Amino acid sequence: MNDEIEVRVPGSPKRFHLNCWSVSGLESCVTVRVDDSVRYAFDIGHATRASIMCDHVFVTHGHIDHCGALPKHVSQRELRSRPPSTYYCPPDIEESLLTICQGFAAMNEGYINKPLSPSRKSVASPVGQDIPLSHGRVARPFRTYHRVASQGYLIYAHTRTRITEYMHLSGPEIGEYMAQGIQVWENKHLPEIAYTGDTTFDTFLDPDNADLLRSSILITEATYIDDRQPAEKARQRGHIHLQDIAKNAELFRHIGALVLVHLSDRYTSGQAQHWVRRLLPQWLLNKTWVPMLMKDMEGGYTY
Ligand SMILES: [Zn+2]
Ligand SMILES: [Zn+2]
Repeated sequence: MNDEIEVRVPGSPKRFHLNCWSVSGLESCVTVRVDDSVRYAFDIGHATRASIMCDHVFVTHGHIDHCGALPKHVSQRELRSRPPSTYYCPPDIEESLLTICQGFAAMNEGYINKPLSPSRKSVASPVGQDIPLSHGRVARPFRTYHRVASQGYLIYAHTRTRITEYMHLSGPEIGEYMAQGIQVWENKHLPEIAYTGDTTFDTFLDPDNADLLRSSILITEATYIDDRQPAEKARQRGHIHLQDIAKNAELFRHIGALVLVHLSDRYTSGQAQHWVRRLLPQWLLNKTWVPMLMKDMEGGYTY
């Protein structure tokens, strides 16, 4: 499934176009397109066609379903004569990713002509350290809580807004103030796109991650959704249960849109819709998206 879904932020003109290829344990790759020149890929467990268009790829952790297709992404970019993407990852896994790419280069007689190298294409990105991007945006890795070293990414968008005390001014008045050298505008970085990757619910309780809960779009996981799987099991495995989100729904009051991915392969899209409708309060449901699962396009296989 390679179609994009349009995610609208209620009460705002903002639109995001997402391609979500994500099933727990199999493969995860989520792309977000803001417009034709701003595209990001989060995780690269599968090199989707949408991801190949992305110059920036953010890897959350070293589980194979989140980074196993990184060498393929590198080779697909070359095959299609695109410049190398930049791959961001937790510092703990950079060396391993390099080794994997170099292994593929060796097996393919240089098919990956330019194996991933720290100087050219991969960036170990510590938590809290901003990554400058184009179009006035920066990405900031944040701490997540999984079974292995992991981090999510929050992309901030630069905006220029009028300082509150000058809100009432007319256009000509603003011009006058500016001519006198009075600063009537202020620059802000607003939390725009958040992607957690695999994590327990603790990520949302961490005070350092408060901006996640103000983002325009929050993409997170709900590996388990029904009452056959207890929430405690999700936590033990380093994941979120939909019950965690329902129980703490108030935390998500100020996000623009919530997108749930990484469902266990045991569920169908229909079951996902059923449980989301059953557990989430209506106001949160109104801004929640559960993208159709890729297996729906493959005959609906489940177990
Ligand atoms: Zn996973
Ligand atoms: Zn994982």
